[in-house]
Amino acid sequence: MATPESVQIKKQHLIDPEICIRCNTCEETCPIDAITHDGTNYVVMPDICNHCMACVAPCPTGAIDNWQDVPATRMYSIEAQYSWDELPPPVAIEASEPAAAGDEDPAAQVTIQGSNYVAGAQIPPWSASHCFTNLYGPRNVITATVSGNFRLTDASSESDIRHVVLDFGSVPFPVLEGQSIGIIPPGRDASDRLHHARQYSLASPRDGERPKYNNVSITVKRVEQDYDGNPVRGVCSNYICDLKKGDTVQVIGPFGHTFLMPNHPGSNIIMICTGTGSAPMRAMTERRRRKRLEQSLEERGRLMLFFGARCPEELPYFGPLNKLPKDFIDINFAFSREPGKPKKYVQDAMRERQTDLLALLRNDDTYIYVCGVKGMESGVLEVLQETAVAGGLDWPELHLSLRQKGRLHLETY
Ligand code: FAD
Repeated sequence: MATPESVQIKKQHLIDPEICIRCNTCEETCPIDAITHDGTNYVVMPDICNHCMACVAPCPTGAIDNWQDVPATRMYSIEAQYSWDELPPPVAIEASEPAAAGDEDPAAQVTIQGSNYVAGAQIPPWSASHCFTNLYGPRNVITATVSGNFRLTDASSESDIRHVVLDFGSVPFPVLEGQSIGIIPPGRDASDRLHHARQYSLASPRDGERPKYNNVSITVKRVEQDYDGNPVRGVCSNYICDLKKGDTVQVIGPFGHTFLMPNHPGSNIIMICTGTGSAPMRAMTERRRRKRLEQSLEERGRLMLFFGARCPEELPYFGPLNKLPKDFIDINFAFSREPGKPKKYVQDAMRERQTDLLALLRNDDTYIYVCGVKGMESGVLEVLQETAVAGGLDWPELHLSLRQKGRLHLETY
């Protein structure tokens, strides 16, 4: 029988290490830096977390949405959480023990004003299709078969980016453009634990890489340098880039319920991306291209793309993009390392098109998607602000409306 606790019971916020895909979204979102990580797990610091819930909606897997009643004297330390492979069972507590005031329901906690500020929307567009998420997790992974692996970047380029097609056979795996999947690389990490899943955006539309087939494609960059430029062999990206046709892969997901495209007639899409951030943009563009072939009304919105890379040889899907009709998509490339030319980033390309951007910003049917390298967000938001202000629009008001109406979506990694 459990011993009566002489202390209050606290609701402790925990992250499920089995489901977490270590995407860092929670740590980035937390307004009071209550989330941290080591090489193994992401954890919530019990003495800092105020249950503001800012991290819950952005988490793509739901791993963050775990709460356990724990006696205040026995809260799990971050060291304990780092050692977990799975969540511990609930602590046995005497039924008569009172919960600490205000700890009854984390979702009912009052959010500290302004503390849950994130630049992008946490809801999808009103006309987005209903998505399925978390159909498969580490306890019920799905096996996909590789049906293609093609290099997208020029052979002369150091950057190896691949287009990999995964087939699910007859096992249901319903997806929408803008969602992602998790791939679990085989083997174990330095601590002898199974590798955790890495997340990859889908590059194919909802009806399959090949229309009417139960398959998806992803765009994967082989990681051979860390963020500081030191040589490293990225575990999952190298595994995927080396896959051969017929190999099988462990997949979880799908993930993501906000970075979804609008489906109503006349909805405009502005896509801003770098590198593999082009994956969801390809998915959305391909969806619209197929709808155009069906002469659907959905197609009648504008598509505007800003796409940055160091040079054309490193730009995934460069050839196919260039073949798309000009009256279908307005493409703006920005190359930062083209010999003999000044550096140009996506923000510069956006500035060059400020008049057209402003016209789209003025339109309530315009939806904006940003995906790619960390650090591009602030530059892109700056240009959007500049553009709005130059056109006499109230940026704080517009920005708030874009967030509240699911019209501005940011995904960087
Ligand atoms: P790891 O073994 O995990 O890391 C090795 C080292 O490289 C570490 O030091 C790490 O800090 C560093 N590192 C990790 N990623 C990068 C990087 N991109 N550039 C430089 N250094 C890095 N990747 C894609 O290729 N295509 C996608 O479509 C894609 N979509 C994503 C969507 C989301 C929402 C998120 C969160 C991530 C996405 N990623 C995508 C990144 C992907 O999940 C992996 O992080 C990436 O492939 C590296 O994994 P790895 O196992 O090879 O490297």
